[in-house]
Amino acid sequence: MKMKKLYIETFGCQMNIADSEVVASILKDENYELTINPDEADLYLFNTCAVRENAEKRIWNKLQHFKGIKRKNRNLKLGVIGCMAQHIGNDFKQTGVVDFIAGPDAYRNIPNLLKSIDESGFQADTELSLTETYEAILPTRINNAKISGFVSITRGCNNFCSYCIVPYTRGRERSRKVSDIMNEVQDLQENGYREITLLGQNVNSYNYTTSTESIDFPKLLALTATRFPDLRIRFTTSHPKDISDELIECIANHDNICNHIHLPIQSGSNEVLKRMNRKYTLEWYLDRIQKIRELIPDCGITTDIFAGFCGEMEADHQQSLDVMKQVGFDAAFMFKYSEREGTYAAKHLDDDVPEAIKIRRLNELITLQNQLSLESNQRDVGKSFRILIEGKSKRSETEIFGRTCQNKVVIIPDTGEKIGDFVPVTVNDYTSATLFGTKIS
Ligand code: SF4
Repeated sequence: MKMKKLYIETFGCQMNIADSEVVASILKDENYELTINPDEADLYLFNTCAVRENAEKRIWNKLQHFKGIKRKNRNLKLGVIGCMAQHIGNDFKQTGVVDFIAGPDAYRNIPNLLKSIDESGFQADTELSLTETYEAILPTRINNAKISGFVSITRGCNNFCSYCIVPYTRGRERSRKVSDIMNEVQDLQENGYREITLLGQNVNSYNYTTSTESIDFPKLLALTATRFPDLRIRFTTSHPKDISDELIECIANHDNICNHIHLPIQSGSNEVLKRMNRKYTLEWYLDRIQKIRELIPDCGITTDIFAGFCGEMEADHQQSLDVMKQVGFDAAFMFKYSEREGTYAAKHLDDDVPEAIKIRRLNELITLQNQLSLESNQRDVGKSFRILIEGKSKRSETEIFGRTCQNKVVIIPDTGEKIGDFVPVTVNDYTSATLFGTKIS
């Protein structure tokens, strides 16, 4: 039977990439194969993100073109899946072009939704689950380079940060079975992957408990590192409240666990952190940084931080700038607060920082971080790293690039190395975004 073509456009975080791979696997059993050419798709899926306003706007813009596309290809089915489907699902019915929506826990039901469209029109499933929904599914990999793969180890989140929509769109936190995770890592290794990233909205609160065993995140990480010594192992995203000494020791004790921790601070002000319901103080965060620096001196530390949350005063903003300097983050994702309907903040807090001030504060965060990233990269000049080659450099055909275990990009002259090779390099130049080096022969 001729295979049908599936095209998935994924927005948002790495969790969504991992979810798209689960969906591709479910649909493979329904005779769909992935295509990289959207024009030949029989089924086009948007895997969406509702965390930021911008990502939502991009989806709405893209949908506008689909009236024309569907007029030309009347067999094309269009589905919106993921967090936006969960959050504002039925709004998509009004577009007249979306055939179905499926929330993050409804992907196993997509084949049934597809079957019902021709008879009954628009279909929707946004049921959330309290148990693991995708047990024993081996994802179909979308990443063509086949070097670095994602493995979801938890789904959902219990933290209810007051600005965040995730607990409402992805439901309660659930930890996957250890054996399922190990099978998935094994599958990636057998398919030539050299690096895996363990994923969770709050990855370090992983806890899989049965009547006979209880495996927390440090134990899972140690188990993965020991069982797969040839793989480089990353994890994200960590919550500061769950960065235990045991976890830091585990990273320090295993050479194949990358010395990089992405640790979102969000604000440098205890007052703001409290309103955000982040469940830690600035002092706790700085204590964790100190412990990381003590046990893993060369650890890359990156963060998320945002400007203009409800009630943020100039002094709060200054504390954010101060903590950025104090920690000296290697890189940061920075943005300005935008209210998400349905969150605690939208219901109970005033979005009272004027837009112009949000933008000015964001620009100050960005300017400072650029300087900190530049200084961080400058400190790497003369040092040696082992990089994993990911591909050709965008700026020159004669250069390739790879990543250090601290997650920094290094560009080196192409002397015949292959994608997936680990290459020892010395750094000799830098910008705020990139290191430049040469292979150590
Ligand atoms: S930890 Fe907070 S910000 Fe992260 S997904 Fe959970 S609720 Fe959202």
